[in-house]
Amino acid sequence: MQLTFHRALMVVSISSFTVLMVNALSDALEAKDTFVEKIRLGVQRFRTITFPQMREMYERLAEKQIPDALFITCGDSRIDPLLLTGMDQGELFVERTPGNIVPIYDDDVSVGVSASIEYAVGVLGVKNIIVCGHSACGAMKALLHPEHLQLLPATARWLKFAEPALKEFRRENTNKAENLNRLTRINVLEQLKHLHTHPAVEQRFKPGSLGLHVDVRNSHWNRRRLQSGHTSIRTRVMEF
Ligand SMILES: [Zn+2]
Repeated sequence: MQLTFHRALMVVSISSFTVLMVNALSDALEAKDTFVEKIRLGVQRFRTITFPQMREMYERLAEKQIPDALFITCGDSRIDPLLLTGMDQGELFVERTPGNIVPIYDDDVSVGVSASIEYAVGVLGVKNIIVCGHSACGAMKALLHPEHLQLLPATARWLKFAEPALKEFRRENTNKAENLNRLTRINVLEQLKHLHTHPAVEQRFKPGSLGLHVDVRNSHWNRRRLQSGHTSIRTRVMEF
């Protein structure tokens, strides 16, 4: 999800502009057809090659899913939870939101994300919750530059759940070159706190029964313990 806008200025005659527009529309139609064909071939390949090869696993999963973790990450098209973690189908219950934001629990708003948390923790009994942030996150860029959100009111409302992270970031900001990555890390920690406003998490949690993990993508592998308000929470920050 990129919220960066690009503007291009072109000075052309009326006739050449028309030609350009026609070409652009033709390209769009052709690209659309190519996309549909790619999807069609992909589904066909899955049915005829992938599924037969993995029939046993899919038949087992058809009976029941027992994922190890609820994996909350951004909707960014470049993030593939299974590819990123090396897990297989059925091992992660994935919830994707802009900026991997976990809304503060409310009976009336954002019930979609709350329902996923409730189901994964309360019904499926996942043993871990992973909040995964990522580099170059468009939502975090927008959080830093809210002037880009004038035409995106829903996104602006959603990002209010990350404003405490922005406040913390502004309070401690010292290195401009690291701005986006630092805000991304702080935001992941903020969303971890929000998890505890959800009744399903609080009811299930007993010391040691629910591990809360925070993953933030970075260029170096590192681990450190997180100091949080909940001393009984087993929390690890895994940066990679
Ligand atoms: Zn993102």
